[in-house]
Amino acid sequence: MNLTRHKLNIMAPDGASWSGKWRKAKRKYYKKHGKVCKCCGSKKNIELHHKLPRHLFPGLALDQDNFIPLCNRKGVGCHFLLGHLQSYYTYNAKITEVAKFARENSVLKKNVA
Ligand SMILES: [Zn+2]
Ligand SMILES: [Zn+2]
Repeated sequence: MNLTRHKLNIMAPDGASWSGKWRKAKRKYYKKHGKVCKCCGSKKNIELHHKLPRHLFPGLALDQDNFIPLCNRKGVGCHFLLGHLQSYYTYNAKITEVAKFARENSVLKKNVA
C-alpha cells in the first residue's frame, strides 16, 4: 500500500477528486441554465454559488438544484453581497427569493466591470 497517498487522502479527502467533480457539475449547470447572474443579469465574472454551503451541507455539494450563478466583481458583486451577505463566513438562506425579486423588479444594475 502506498502510504503517502493514503496519508494524503486522509488529510485532503476531497482535494483533487472534488475539483474534478465540481468542474463537471459547473459545466453541466451552465450548459443547461446559462452563465448569467441570477440577481442582476450580468454575464461577467460569474461564480456558481451553493445556496446551502458545502461545508454545512456536504450532501448537497454537487446537487444541481443547490447552485445559483452570481456575479462577483472584485469581491463586491452579487455573490458576495447577496449570496453571502458580505461575509464568506455566512450565507443567505433566502438567496432564491432575493434573486427572483431582484430580477423581476430590476432593482440591481448590471454589475459590469
Ligand atoms: Zn450580479
Ligand atoms: Zn457562494
